[in-house]
Amino acid sequence: MTDDPTAYPGESLLILGAGAVGSASALTFARRGFKVTVIDRGTPGSGASYGNAGGVVPSASPLAQPGLPWQVPGMLFDPTGPLSIKPTELIKSLPWFLRFVLECSTNRAEANSKALYALAGAAAPAWKDLVQGTAGAALLRDVGWLKVYSSEAGFQNHASERAFLERRDAQMEILSQDELRQLEPNLAPIFVRGMLQPDGLFALNPQRLVESVAAEATAQGATFLQETIEDLTVAEDGRITVRTNIADHKPDRVMICAGAFSKRFARALGAAPLLVAERGYHAMFDRPEKCTTRPAFWVENSMVLCPMEQGMRLTTQSEFAGLTAEPNYARLNRMIPKAKEMMPQLDLTVRDRWMGHRPSTPDSLPVLGVAPNTSRGFFNFGHNHLGLTLSAISARVAADLWTGSGVSDGIPVEAYRPLR
Ligand SMILES: Cc1cc2nc3c(=O)[nH]c(=O)nc-3n(C[C@H](O)[C@H](O)[C@H](O)COP(=O)(O)OP(=O)(O)OC[C@H]3O[C@@H](n4cnc5c(N)ncnc54)[C@H](O)[C@@H]3O)c2cc1C
Repeated sequence: MTDDPTAYPGESLLILGAGAVGSASALTFARRGFKVTVIDRGTPGSGASYGNAGGVVPSASPLAQPGLPWQVPGMLFDPTGPLSIKPTELIKSLPWFLRFVLECSTNRAEANSKALYALAGAAAPAWKDLVQGTAGAALLRDVGWLKVYSSEAGFQNHASERAFLERRDAQMEILSQDELRQLEPNLAPIFVRGMLQPDGLFALNPQRLVESVAAEATAQGATFLQETIEDLTVAEDGRITVRTNIADHKPDRVMICAGAFSKRFARALGAAPLLVAERGYHAMFDRPEKCTTRPAFWVENSMVLCPMEQGMRLTTQSEFAGLTAEPNYARLNRMIPKAKEMMPQLDLTVRDRWMGHRPSTPDSLPVLGVAPNTSRGFFNFGHNHLGLTLSAISARVAADLWTGSGVSDGIPVEAYRPLR
């Protein structure tokens, strides 16, 4: 460890990864006076941040919840269900799955809900602050986050999620069928209930949003390099060398924001976080003339239909199959007809299919904090299903923590610590 754990303006900071999290961090630290360089093998926003549903969601629901382990077998045997686990991945990531089961206890789920909402509830204002006065502001719509239910039973079965929100005092409006039709007249009339979180936001094009954040960071002095990171080594004085296919970089500070690919870099800095790639998919269609104005999450089918600027996007699936397996579009293809059930006027000609890796932890909380074996390193990854949502607030918390400027009250930073 270096003696002084504080990062100071004027120091050079190398950020690994230019997704939503790395780019938001680049802009935040550049504004605070750091000499920021970002390395990514691709362009900003071309990883998991490219193809998500665009929701900035004030969520209070960790994935691991009481009763869930008993429902998993049924989900796995449903060929149109959104969950699949490759047997080899189950074995390889057994510690992750065992920890997930432990996190399903009532006490753990409640603690995780509080820690998640502490960030997610502050996410929309953090995004607005981050993009204020920049091109990115026009890409964020104040339309809330909408969940729709096609049966009364479905509405009742998901009461626990609303209970988490109620206990967090989150804003929430329950909509009757009529109110839902008034809000979104171009959704099929099959939905009997809705739940709107009015303080959510919708990113019309998540990749373009990340690109615009990266462009603003560049305007503030940051540099983006397209290189492949090969490994990290730590010298006795705590200094980190980042070796890429092009060069050895020796900055004052390093922040790991490589999403689902962060684990091996984190190991080099003294932590072996429980992190898996939870793969998700999307399909793109043309946007019909009569269209929704916000994403609609069909709860019973765990799928979202989103009116992106480039067309309609269906996002779905939790697939545990590791980092390197080829995409398997079979389940996505089986889900596609359900998009037409949501919106009968949709033409189901698929314009594009995509798979991305969500960086998932068993407790649904990001890994945020100073690296265990050198305070010149910082972790900011593992944002699960909410990496777009949490990127601006995580960047702020990271900067507050590392520069010692004081994290806002109510953010339980201990809950996100790397060794947990
Ligand atoms: C189908 C789907 C829908 C989703 N919907 C939502 C939503 O509505 N709202 C929400 O908040 N979240 C959503 N998410 C989750 C969200 O997309 C992720 O949590 C988020 O993108 C993670 O951001 P990140 O910056 O950590 O990772 P990434 O965007 O994956 O960025 C990591 C970067 O690291 C780079 N990298 C990795 N290894 C190396 C290396 N060796 N060398 C160089 N570069 C490297 C990658 O190229 C990549 O650009 C969704 C995800 C999926 C899959």
